[in-house]
Amino acid sequence: MGAASIEKKENRFIQELISPSDKLVIDAVREFVNQEIVPIRREIEESTREDFGLIEEVQRKLLSLGLQGGSLPEEYGGMGLTSALTLSIVAEELARGDASLFCAPAGEARTLRPAVLAENKDVLEHFAPRFKGDEPYIACFAMTEPSGGCDIESLDMKGVGINTHAELDGDQWVINGSKIWSVNSGIADVFCVVCNTDPELGDNGIALIYVEVPTEGFHHGGFEDKTGFLATREGEFRLENVRVPREWRAAGPGRDAELLHDNVVFSRILNGAWAIGCAQGALDEVLAFTSDRMAAGKPIRQHTIAANILADIAIGIQVGRDAYVNAAYIYDRPETYGPGYSRHMLSRSSITKVFCCDAAVKATNLAMELMGSYGYVTDYPVEKYWRDAKVIQLWEGGAQLGRLDVVRGYYDYNQFHRNELYEVIRERSQTPGADT
Ligand SMILES: Cc1cc2nc3c(=O)[nH]c(=O)nc-3n(C[C@H](O)[C@H](O)[C@H](O)COP(=O)(O)OP(=O)(O)OC[C@H]3O[C@@H](n4cnc5c(N)ncnc54)[C@H](O)[C@@H]3O)c2cc1C
Repeated sequence: MGAASIEKKENRFIQELISPSDKLVIDAVREFVNQEIVPIRREIEESTREDFGLIEEVQRKLLSLGLQGGSLPEEYGGMGLTSALTLSIVAEELARGDASLFCAPAGEARTLRPAVLAENKDVLEHFAPRFKGDEPYIACFAMTEPSGGCDIESLDMKGVGINTHAELDGDQWVINGSKIWSVNSGIADVFCVVCNTDPELGDNGIALIYVEVPTEGFHHGGFEDKTGFLATREGEFRLENVRVPREWRAAGPGRDAELLHDNVVFSRILNGAWAIGCAQGALDEVLAFTSDRMAAGKPIRQHTIAANILADIAIGIQVGRDAYVNAAYIYDRPETYGPGYSRHMLSRSSITKVFCCDAAVKATNLAMELMGSYGYVTDYPVEKYWRDAKVIQLWEGGAQLGRLDVVRGYYDYNQFHRNELYEVIRERSQTPGADT
């Protein structure tokens, strides 16, 4: 950097909110990002054109920090690393290096979370030793289907939209259906699959069922070709009469729906932090670039118009960080603030995701503008942060469902709300000759 930063990094968030053991994890990840990721950000992306060898090497080192199996309770050999606040700060740190590298810890946290919250001993006893082995053990939370993702996560839909069907046959679930876009699909060893036992049952039909692969009837259909997030792999897979033990359903009717909605809330908070990490990476770069690069005889950042833009970037980042820290802190305390699957928490987490993603997309875009042509080339990582921030905005409900979920915390918003006038107009528009 052309000039030393005068920002006090320890003042970015309230240090007292973090437990000493979680602080050790965060410090280790920060150090890892500075030493092992930032210097090879470009190589990591370029290597995906050939194979995923470099990424697997980096992931292996990352998971050996204790992150693999970290979200398991301590009695199962984990670290009980379930705090949304700790994982959010880890997400921000990793995204400052390469956002897609957070997908292994995030995939694990989201996949194991329903079993951990439901205290499902059968699932935890079976899978815990696998996560604690020496080899990478990869997890995937599979919700989205080819016909759409938002309808599955929407509270209003009551399971309508989940076409993956699970049926009991004796002591086994038999699962049929298709999933798409799940992070780590195609490379994962364990999946938590969002299913429906009976669409007529509404929320009671929603079932979260664990599947271990390889298994008969599980078919992977190849990987998607993406603009960003290049270090992860996502694809479609089909389940044809896949059989798993009855005990591998996370909890049971009703509770599984709560666990699904809780998982959406948890993820949206993490998404906010993830996006802020991309924006922070871009700010670090643009501060350095604009201190060296001259225009009209002085460094670009000493021009008032550039200082204004840098201020807007910094404001978005710090307010976004404050938002995700607050949302994560209250999410971690359901005994005080209510359960994670409540409308209130859905709203808070959606405020966080929508705000942080908007701020990150804007920040990376503005950083590119301040760097001129250099913002658009791969020699500098700003274009990478821009590509990565965008997908965080698009997934997990996108910018639109996210906003609808925000207002659910303020009034009884119901997308199916209609009035008598609507019905009259609809009837008239369906009468023959109405279009002529
Ligand atoms: C890189 C990547 C990784 C992903 N990882 C995972 C994963 O690990 N697991 C997983 O299950 N999925 C994953 N997804 C899928 C992602 O979560 C979905 O793409 C997302 O939920 C949106 O679903 P969709 O693309 O089907 O869009 P749609 O559901 O078709 O929505 C399209 C548009 O309509 C808007 N919209 C939706 N509902 C409403 C409504 N009621 N009213 C008004 N507007 C609405 C949306 O905001 C969006 O703008 C991933 C996607 C990507 C790109």
